Amino acid sequence: MYNIGTSQQLFEKAKQSIPGGVNSPVRAFKSVGGSPVFIKKARGAYLYDVDGNEYIDYIASWGPLILGHAYPKVVQAIQEAAENGTSYGAPTELESKMAELIISMVPNVDLIRMVSSGTEACMSAIRLARGYTGRNKIIKFEGCYHGHADSFLVKAGSGLATLGIQNVPGVTQAVAEDTLTAPYNNLEAVEALVKAHKDNVAAIIIEPVAGNMGCIIPKPGFLQGLRDLCTREGIVFIFDEVMNGFRLALGGAQERLGIDADLVTYGKVIGAGMPVGAFGGKREIMSQIAPLGAVYQAGTLSGNPLAMVAGYTLLSELKNNPGLLEEVDRKTGHLYDGLTEMLSNKGIPYHVNQIGSMISVHFTGTPVIDYASASKQDIGLFNKYFHYLLSNGVYLPPSAYESWFLNNALSYDDIDRTVALTDDFLATI
Ligand SMILES: *Cc1c(COP(=O)(O)O)cnc(C)c1O
Repeated sequence: MYNIGTSQQLFEKAKQSIPGGVNSPVRAFKSVGGSPVFIKKARGAYLYDVDGNEYIDYIASWGPLILGHAYPKVVQAIQEAAENGTSYGAPTELESKMAELIISMVPNVDLIRMVSSGTEACMSAIRLARGYTGRNKIIKFEGCYHGHADSFLVKAGSGLATLGIQNVPGVTQAVAEDTLTAPYNNLEAVEALVKAHKDNVAAIIIEPVAGNMGCIIPKPGFLQGLRDLCTREGIVFIFDEVMNGFRLALGGAQERLGIDADLVTYGKVIGAGMPVGAFGGKREIMSQIAPLGAVYQAGTLSGNPLAMVAGYTLLSELKNNPGLLEEVDRKTGHLYDGLTEMLSNKGIPYHVNQIGSMISVHFTGTPVIDYASASKQDIGLFNKYFHYLLSNGVYLPPSAYESWFLNNALSYDDIDRTVALTDDFLATI
């Protein structure tokens, strides 16, 4: 019998001292209902909760742990680094090695600055784009998430979509007015916005493959159209690769999709599960950052030695073994094939979106290509699906608006079991 009694007790206790009992909203299971499970430890593809339940993990800490939890080389590197102190607030050689490694892997990055989260990376990239162009407006896409900085909390995906939050109290009208939004995959809408705000758009920021309204794939020509528009209009084109980077390819979405960005932001995989983000790009733009230029950006813990060594070790592992990313892609393809074959004769409307090791299941008859179509899915059915799998040892993202992230520690048996459980679930409804 599935029992999460200890988790429930810990959740009640947590709510007494932490808002909603969690330090990031989606963890509270508010949209799927029920009580979140509290994790005790993780190894490889599995999570273990405080009640002794084991789960096949399809979140991988929302992306970072692409080779699985507690990857031995990463753990060892962190342990060894900790012996030498946890932070210095002064430069280290490791930071240059990390920067050089990233520059050797990804296109269009001449200079890169490390920060401590994806949020920080994106908000810094926007400030830089504004400083560089001397313009105020930015364009983002409905359902895309770029962290929780004020400018991005307009029609944002991820937890805001999950919780149905449209406007965030605390974001001033002036900030919101500088953020223009367009539907994902709709080039004409962006062209119209740029025309209406001629010479005042500093940046277009996009998740090249969107992962914060489920996994949504850019239509052929969409990103290239944006690229051309940015070049024509002097707009800084920012790829938010916090999710895509080092996952869709060694060179991220830029490499996989063959599109060049002016600035790129990273997070998640880049830190191997430690708090890390980064933004980088063309030398001409990046040279505006302090201390080279006047666009100020700083961080007490930026380039932290434990975070750097963790990220450096994981990225080196990926670079030295290019087969690893192909392997996790193949496993995700196996999950896609299993799910779509099984769903095809059930009479339940569905769409499964997949690219590389990102995948999401949507219970809807219409293709999911943007936020509006993602919103048409049967959320109630997804929530039941989530709980059925959870109580049978499979941990999916607790929201229909999130991509699943596969990790390479998953076995084909784990994936077949997930498909079989999905089949069992559909038989119950
Ligand atoms: C997770 C995410 C962020 C925010 O990163 P944090 O480390 O949570 O601040 C930004 N952009 C995208 C695309 C993300 O998926």
